[in-house]
Amino acid sequence: MVLIISIVTPMKLTPRHGLLFLGSLVTLSLTACSGNEAETSANSIAIAASFYPIEEIVTNLSGGTIGVVGLTPPGAGAHDMELTSEQLAELEESDVLFYLGDGFQPGIEKVISSLPASVRVVDLLERLTVRDIVPQLEGLEGETDGEALESGKDPHVWLDPANMIIMANEVRDVLKDLQGADKKALDSSLAEYVAELTTLGSEFDNGLKDCESNVIVTSHRAFEYLAARTNLKQIAIAGVNPDSEPSTKSMQAIAKFAKANNVSTIFFEALLPEDLAQTIANEIGAKTDLLDPIEGFSQEDLDAGASYIVAQRSNLERLRTGLKCK
Ligand SMILES: [Zn+2]
Repeated sequence: MVLIISIVTPMKLTPRHGLLFLGSLVTLSLTACSGNEAETSANSIAIAASFYPIEEIVTNLSGGTIGVVGLTPPGAGAHDMELTSEQLAELEESDVLFYLGDGFQPGIEKVISSLPASVRVVDLLERLTVRDIVPQLEGLEGETDGEALESGKDPHVWLDPANMIIMANEVRDVLKDLQGADKKALDSSLAEYVAELTTLGSEFDNGLKDCESNVIVTSHRAFEYLAARTNLKQIAIAGVNPDSEPSTKSMQAIAKFAKANNVSTIFFEALLPEDLAQTIANEIGAKTDLLDPIEGFSQEDLDAGASYIVAQRSNLERLRTGLKCK
């Protein structure tokens, strides 16, 4: 969990000092004792973000001046996280909760109905076009997707930078409504972040245009939004009956398809075992490489400056190498 806490004394801030800031629990309790609650409520803004990509959007828009409570701890899976009682307490103190609904993170959704009315709850999925999960390949046995949304659709919207832009716009709109928000600063940091995401999107579009293969074999079905944007075909090994190992017949169907489509690299990810990817790679004489679904970073990665844009650029380079792009 990344918890940025500014310990501040209650005072009037000019816009120059930053657009928003969080009064930490320490500040809240101090001001409560000093009877200064009116100022605290005007100046203290805390935002809860259900998992890393949303956390990054809020942090970028606020220029680091706002407190962001990340509800998925570093290194934990986004889909199956559960809130600790401390996190729930922080969430209840927050002004806004940003999350993706439709059953993406049941651990968050189950507490929403019991949150105080002071927490504005915003489902960022609502403005996005969410993709259906379609069968991947003929000859696969028991193809199901354990990560599908309740509607049966694919939750991994953030991997297309265009969806990050839509979410960032909505976050800006919501933050603007908060008391104490510097609307101009929010607009300019949004413009800056959107420009970076737009550049990233063009890099994907141009970088994957002319490749020897257009098939990515991945360990879990996270990359459909990116694949759709860049005209790639994703085959996810763990999209085949995620509760048990894919059958030999399924593994052979994937290997056969990969071979017929000049696949030279099988992609896996740090949080999942590499062995299935390695099995298919061995079968067709391919290499393996990492692809990051950016569902969260380890604390070590965060300390080293990990971000959505950095991780996506690394994904692009690995895809370009793996697909032999010009
Ligand atoms: Zn996932």
